[in-house]
Amino acid sequence: EATIGKIAAGEVIERPASVVKELVENALDASARSIVVEIAAGGRECIRVRDDGLGISAADLPLAIERHATSKLRRFEDLASLRTFGFRGEALASIAAVSDLEIISRPPDAVHGVRLRSVFGRRTALEPVAAAPGTVVTVRDLFANVPARRSFLRQESTETAYIQRVVGACALAHPEVRFELVVDGRTVLATDGSGSLENVLVGVFGAEAAAQMVPIQPTDDLGDQARPLRLEVHGCVGLPTLTRSNRLGMLFFVNRRWIESRPLGVAVEQAYHTLIMVGRYPVAVIHLELPPGSVDVNVHPTKREVRFSDERAVFNAVQAAVRRTLAQHVP
Ligand code: ADP
Ligand code: MG
Repeated sequence: EATIGKIAAGEVIERPASVVKELVENALDASARSIVVEIAAGGRECIRVRDDGLGISAADLPLAIERHATSKLRRFEDLASLRTFGFRGEALASIAAVSDLEIISRPPDAVHGVRLRSVFGRRTALEPVAAAPGTVVTVRDLFANVPARRSFLRQESTETAYIQRVVGACALAHPEVRFELVVDGRTVLATDGSGSLENVLVGVFGAEAAAQMVPIQPTDDLGDQARPLRLEVHGCVGLPTLTRSNRLGMLFFVNRRWIESRPLGVAVEQAYHTLIMVGRYPVAVIHLELPPGSVDVNVHPTKREVRFSDERAVFNAVQAAVRRTLAQHVP
C-alpha cells in the first residue's frame, strides 16, 4: 500500500510546483478570496498554502487524504467544460504519501479548527486547535522517502521559478482572488484581488515588465481561421523589448484554465521571429475561449495538456493574433 501510494503520487506530484498547483486549485475550489503561498528552499523544505475558503469539517478532514476521496460532485459535463479543477480526489493522498503533511482547517461556522498530521503516509495526529476560518496546508520534506524522485529535482532557483510560474498563472486566471507568493520570507508576487487585470499583470510580472505588455487585438479580425471554430483569442503580449532567457514567461489558458502547450509556444515564438534575438523568448498571456466540445481535457492525468479538435486552426489563429498585435506596436 505504501508502495502503491508512492508510485501513484509520481503521476500527480512531479515536483514542488505540482504540489503548489494542487493546493492552490483546492483553495480556489473552496471559494477562497485570498491565497497565500509560502515556500522555503525551492519547496523541498516547506510549502505552505493558506486560504480563507470554506474549510474542511472535522468529520471530513481524515477522509481528505484518502485516495479517491473527493467532496466534489462532478458530472461529465463538468470535465468537458473544464470548469472544475480537481476531479480525481487523489492530490492530497498523493502528497501525503511522499511528505510530512499538516492540514489545519476550520469551516467559517465551526467553533474551532482541526489539525491533521500525516508523516509519509502515516497519520500521526488529529486534534482540535484554535484556527482562523479557512485552510492551511503545510508540506515538508517533499520526496524525502523517494530518493529517486528527490534527486531528479533541479536546483532551488529552478524549482522556485516553476512555483512562481504556477502561482502567476493562477493569479492571471483569477484576478478576483488575492494571491501572494513568499519565497524564503520575501514576497515576490502579490495581487490585490480587485479584479483589475492591470493589477494582476503588475503583481505577476512586475511594473517594469507590465509597462511593456500590450493587449491582443480583438478577435473579430482573426477572420476565417477562428470563425468556424468559434475561437476567441485575447490576453496580452510583451513588446520585443521584453524578453526572457527561458519559455516560462509564455502562459496559455483555455476557457480560463491554465494549460501547457508546446505547439502554442512555437506559434507565439514564430510570431516574434526576427523581432527578438535567438536564445531569448517572449512574454505572453494568451487566453483561448472555445466551445468545450472542441477541446479534449483528458490527455494527461494532471490535466495541463489539452488536445484541440483542430490543432492547426488554433495554432494559426494564435499566431495571427500575436502577429497582428505586434505589427500595430512595432514599426
Ligand atoms: P479533489 O480536489 O480532486 O477533490 P484532493 O485530494 O485535492 O481531491 O482533495 C480532497 C478533498 O479535500 C477535496 O475534495 C475537498 O473536500 C478537501 N479539500 C482539500 N483542500 C481543501 C481546501 N483548501 N479547502 C477546503 N477543502 C479542501
Ligand atoms: Mg484537488
